[in-house]
Amino acid sequence: MRSLPANHVTDELLAAYAAGTLSEAESLIVATHSAFCPICRDAIAAFEAVGASLLDEIEPEALSAGSLESVMAKLDDLEDLPDNVVRHPSAKTAAAGSDQGFVLPEPLRSYVGGDLNDVVWRPVIRGLEEAELSVSGPEFNVRLIRVAAGAAMPQHSHHGSEYTLLLTGAYRDSSGRYARGDFQMADGDVDHQPTAEPGEPCVCLIVTDAPIKLTGPVGRLLNPFIRY
Ligand SMILES: [Zn+2]
Repeated sequence: MRSLPANHVTDELLAAYAAGTLSEAESLIVATHSAFCPICRDAIAAFEAVGASLLDEIEPEALSAGSLESVMAKLDDLEDLPDNVVRHPSAKTAAAGSDQGFVLPEPLRSYVGGDLNDVVWRPVIRGLEEAELSVSGPEFNVRLIRVAAGAAMPQHSHHGSEYTLLLTGAYRDSSGRYARGDFQMADGDVDHQPTAEPGEPCVCLIVTDAPIKLTGPVGRLLNPFIRY
């Protein structure tokens, strides 16, 4: 049996996912992490239960605390919990898919149009390849990257948010070690140089929002060139 991910999606993202308010790009990476992670699947189910039928009964203070624990505690206190908690369909499908030997679980597999060996990689720099995925919404860049075993990615910080989900291999940066199923969120406060461990290539799903957003007739034309 595979070990569980050690690094999870934040409660804020899980709640927004359950509420259906995330963008398609964010939903994709949250759902794919959930395919690896029963802990986050359960949290999504709990948030969905709250959203479906119990929101009115929860004290405002419990929500303002913002923690999953406070919501869960309230759920324990409430009577008439639904017998069947409705899980998010894509997360449920994903969980089933990940048990069938695919490297890429659903819903990611559908976006790729196959498994990892169907990906058409484009070289970026030595030791780094990428494949962009088509996701609706212009505000996010969604791609797979493949880092050669033992290779280091360029040192970088972030103008916006960067979500990373590790699919194969493992990498380390100043914050720790990340392996299959792990989720990492980075922003402008994080300056890091992820380095793949030796042994096998490190493949990640990366979701970034536009680092800078140029406006105006000329600037808009330059936006497609600003990728990282
Ligand atoms: Zn998780």
